[in-house]
Amino acid sequence: MNQQSEIYNLKSEASALQAQLVLWRRDFHRHPEWGFQEFRTSSIVARHLSSLGMEVQTGVGKTGVIGLLEGSQPGPVVMLRFDMDALPIQEANQTDYVSQTPGVMHACGHDAHTAIGMGIAQLMAQHRDELKGTLKFVFQPGEEGCGGALAMIKDRVLEDPKPEIALGLHVWNDQRVGLVAAGSGGVMAAADIFTIKVQGKGGHGAQPHLCIDAVLIASQIVVALQSVVARNVNPRQTAVVTVGTIHSGTAFNIIADTAELTGTIRTFDALVREDIVRRITDIVENTARALGGGATIEVKAISPATINDDRAAQFVREIAIEVLGAERVTADQFTMTAEDMSEFLNRVPGCFFFIGSANAEKGLNAAHHNPHFDIDEEVLPLGVAVLATAVWRYLGGKTTTN
Ligand SMILES: [Zn+2]
Ligand SMILES: [Zn+2]
Repeated sequence: MNQQSEIYNLKSEASALQAQLVLWRRDFHRHPEWGFQEFRTSSIVARHLSSLGMEVQTGVGKTGVIGLLEGSQPGPVVMLRFDMDALPIQEANQTDYVSQTPGVMHACGHDAHTAIGMGIAQLMAQHRDELKGTLKFVFQPGEEGCGGALAMIKDRVLEDPKPEIALGLHVWNDQRVGLVAAGSGGVMAAADIFTIKVQGKGGHGAQPHLCIDAVLIASQIVVALQSVVARNVNPRQTAVVTVGTIHSGTAFNIIADTAELTGTIRTFDALVREDIVRRITDIVENTARALGGGATIEVKAISPATINDDRAAQFVREIAIEVLGAERVTADQFTMTAEDMSEFLNRVPGCFFFIGSANAEKGLNAAHHNPHFDIDEEVLPLGVAVLATAVWRYLGGKTTTN
């Protein structure tokens, strides 16, 4: 069999799975679970992997699942990672697969990732005899700021056997369905959360001269923080500083004595991040002092930048071009959103790529984390086709073709 026809087979095998993929995805969508609560989801995954004859490990990083598919001959270990958690959002869609759990919604597409992972498992189990090496399926809990990747790493997901390459994908509503973006280097930013506590002196709204106004201090801090990216970061670098919340005050005629602000820092470069943290700390402490009050800041890292290995990204692009055509593949995309796939890619070279899932004509283009988020399910077999072909190529070797 020649290489081209094998690729064609995998693509058509993936599209033959479409109905099943939709069933899985809609079932997960109806029954979303928060990070580390994915008991139902992970048990469905584990049962499916077991039914395919895989060696399955559950409870990894609390609710994570690992499945090992051994090929017929020894070879490298390829890790595929899929996240399973939903978000604390009340779904506003009116589909027949709308979330049945109040206040919980698959608004990032991790239901699609889990379904794609199960589809690849099914497809690759059928091609087991052609595989030279091991395929390690990693179904991860708690991606949404919960530290699920680290929890699995602590539970030794990257050992016994250690993967040589790690691959993963994210459905992406910023792009039309079926477009693949697999960049080299930094593709998703490092994320930090900061909390600022302002201390003033409360009192009567009509007696400002006797008070230190925490609302005024907080406001000046917000404005001054805008100078960090604009004036302190090298324009050739990329960074974001966002204040997301301010809480202060109790009544119109009371000068608030405290204020609390939270926000996020997004960067790709560790030195840029350090500079930003230093500048923010200076601004917060000194602005408060200048206005007669005080302030403290705490910065906590959520996840590092997601950095793709050059060769792995090139490999994924080549595969995606074969499967989808060159006009549907780009290396040119990055986002300031963050992902804890970064924790795996910091330890194992690999590639995390985006596959477009939006379809504006069908009204399926709401942003991720929006209560109207939904995807064009055409993305499901395409995601399976690209990743399955990548795996087949990596573990099948070119000698089995022609
Ligand atoms: Zn998300
Ligand atoms: Zn996500």
